[in-house]
Amino acid sequence: MTTAIKVYNPFSLYEKALKTIEKSGIRPTKQRRILAKILFDKGNRHVSAEELFYDVKKEDRKISMATVYNTLKQFTTLGLIKEVVVDQNKSLYCTNNKSHYHLYIEDEGKIVDIPTKNVNLDIPSIPACLQLHNIDIIVRIRTLKDKN
Ligand SMILES: [Zn+2]
Repeated sequence: MTTAIKVYNPFSLYEKALKTIEKSGIRPTKQRRILAKILFDKGNRHVSAEELFYDVKKEDRKISMATVYNTLKQFTTLGLIKEVVVDQNKSLYCTNNKSHYHLYIEDEGKIVDIPTKNVNLDIPSIPACLQLHNIDIIVRIRTLKDKN
């Protein structure tokens, strides 16, 4: 019989997230830790609040939908995740904290990361008193429908 050994990895996204939460002065409550673990332990991904809520249930944890929403909002404010508003009624949360853009497959509701180097931009010059903060790009695509 093999036993899974839990190893502390200070470089895991989860451990980094916990450090950021602690430094920000927000209490790392049990519920926040559970949500951070579920969010960050699967590597880079995009989840909706509903999918995260479903993951919480699957792990037999009891966290309300309101807490899931509030925590996602807090994690977004802390810069741990990025909210990608794909349409008026749908946001996905991205755990990839490297600079990147998104490709959104509208009819499948799926989102994929695009490295920034894959997109050529010609940005107008910015007045000296201002600075570029961020560029969000969502490339929206649809699968081709069968014409028969
Ligand atoms: Zn992403």
